[in-house]
This record gives sequence, structure tokens and C-alpha cells, in this order.
Amino acid sequence: MFLKGLNISELDRFLTQDILRQESSKSNGKKISYRTKQILKWVYSKFQDDPNLFSDISKEIRKQIAQKINFRSLELLEYKISQVSDSIKFAFRTMDKEIVESVLMKHPGRYTVCVSTQVGCNVGCIFCASGMFGLKRNLGSHEIVEQLFLIQKFVFERENKRISNVVFMGMGEPLVNYNNVLKAIEIFTSDWGFNISKRNVTLSTSGILPRMYDLIKDNVRVKLALSLHSPFQKEREKLIPIAKRYHIDEVLKALENYYLNTKRRVTIEYILLRKINDSVSHAKELVRILKRYNMRVLINLIPYNNIGNVYFEGILLEEPEISRIREFYSILKEHFEVSIRWSLGRDIDGACGQLRRKIISN
Ligand code: SF4
Repeated sequence: MFLKGLNISELDRFLTQDILRQESSKSNGKKISYRTKQILKWVYSKFQDDPNLFSDISKEIRKQIAQKINFRSLELLEYKISQVSDSIKFAFRTMDKEIVESVLMKHPGRYTVCVSTQVGCNVGCIFCASGMFGLKRNLGSHEIVEQLFLIQKFVFERENKRISNVVFMGMGEPLVNYNNVLKAIEIFTSDWGFNISKRNVTLSTSGILPRMYDLIKDNVRVKLALSLHSPFQKEREKLIPIAKRYHIDEVLKALENYYLNTKRRVTIEYILLRKINDSVSHAKELVRILKRYNMRVLINLIPYNNIGNVYFEGILLEEPEISRIREFYSILKEHFEVSIRWSLGRDIDGACGQLRRKIISN
């Protein structure tokens, strides 16, 4: 039983049935939700997850809680502070000795944490270090939540700051680990949890079509980003092999549906790869296909962050020249909101999966 994988009603039920039975009969159940709230407040408001330090709870109950509930599932292995951007990359070790990466990005008035949802990934994007090892396993909801918890604790103790934003853009495809990701979102956004606004949570997907519709059905209402990387179906299939299963027209339609149901601006992520998908004809085609849909869209251009000698059809993957990036940007900018997101912290193995890969190979 991992505390950080429980929502308030699950924790309450467990405490009622298992630990607080005597208290419950004395107080007709009223104290139960009080105790539950006390524990959640320690963890998600004071960022303290050592039950021995829950000073407003009796020693006897603390002892039982510590025996029956697991409060930690990740260990901080290392962190790297970028010298060129305000970001810190963290590597955590799971209980089964897998490595999980997360990143803290500091912007004025906004602290964002990028969390991982799987150990490895089987989507297979050719430009991604995470996918190189394939998928090891899904992360549990407690392991996803604990990434945010440990970084929040780190920031709180050093700077007395709160994390304001979360992005699901780390290792793994979040929609392949749907239920655990949904539980983590619940804990991130509930007032008894981290109390982060759903508007400040972004989930990025390579386009797992059925789960995109599930997000609408389940009224998840976070911001949704689609990794597109090419406006051409055949080329997209080569860059993101899972795209063979879900046609570009269908995933864009699903994105439009998400927008129409939530009225939240959606994002298109586009990694710019030199001489592969950075041409004028790519930019024009991107404009053409996006105009077919009724949605407010932000296009995030991400110049490629080198992960080593990786080739695509004989072409070395590289970042485009700055003039090419500007030209691409200008064509899109005439029609859509566009931003260029330089990969943060190239000096800290900032691309997803890079730090894990380095730790494993060492
Ligand atoms: S970019 Fe994301 S979806 Fe693609 S292989 Fe990497 S982790 Fe998986």
C-alpha cells in the first residue's frame, strides 16, 4: 500500500477499516476524515512524508501508519543543475532499481516539473533516448506522484517555493499508462493534494487515439499536446512508428474534439530535424492540414537536442540552422500561435531519457 497512490477516499477507507477502528467507533466516524485530512496535509501541504514526524497524531497511530503504509518508493540518485538555463534534472531509483527521470524548469513566477510515466517507452520515436531501451514497465501512480513530491520538497526546503505547473512529457507515453496517469492527475489537482490547477497540467501524447477520446469521456480537462513532428502520414510513421496504427487525420480529429469539448487551447509539438522535417514545404503543409480543423492551437517548435549518432534514412539527426528555424517559424506564425522551445539544459542531458541512459551505461 503506497500512500502517494491513494486518493482521499481510498486512504480514508483504509484508515477506517484497518488502523482507526477504535477511534472510529468512539467518534462515529467523524475523526476518520479528520485523520485522513491531517495525513494528506502533512504530505501535500507541508511536504513531509515521514510519519514519525506527524506531530499532531498520536504515537500509537503513527506507528501503525508507518507499519502498514509505504510512504516512499523512490530514492533520489542524483541531480544536475544546468549552467545555461534555470533547470535541474533529477534521476530517481525505484524499489526494483529502475531509473526514472524528471526535470524542474524555473521561469519567473512559474515552476514546472516534467514527470515520467514509464520506465523506457515502446513508441519508438527515432529521436528519443527513452525509446532506445524499449519499455521496461509502467510507473505506478505513486511513482509518478512521488517525482513531483520529491522535487516539490527539494524546492520548498531550499527556496520556499511551490510548483505551479506539471507537464507529462518525460520518459514514456502517458496514454499507454492511462489509469495510473489519471490517478496522478487527480492527486496533482485536488485541493487535498498538490492543488495545482488543471489549466497548469499538460499531457503530451504521440497520438494514442482511443485514449484521447477517453480523456474527453473521463472529463480530465488538462491541457493536451500532440507530438506531430511531420504533416505527412508516411514520414510521421517513420519518425514515430506507433503512428502506423493511428492515422494523422484521425489523431488531429481527436485533438479537435478535445478542444471542442474542453475549450482548452491544444498544442502541437514539432521537433525540428535538419534536412528531414524542417523544409518550407513541411511548414506549408503543416499550415494546410491544421487549417482544416476547428481548434485553437499553439505550435511548439523544438529544435532537436542531440542524443548521439542517430541516423534517419542516412541523414544524421541534427538541429537545423538558425535561419531555417526562423523561416519555418515565420511561415507558421502568419496563421497560428507559435513558440520555439529550446530544449532546456543541454549540459544536463536535458532530452528525455538521456540522463537515465548515461547512468545505465556508467
Ligand atoms: S518521445 Fe515520448 S513517446 Fe516517443 S519514444 Fe520518447 S518517451 Fe516515447
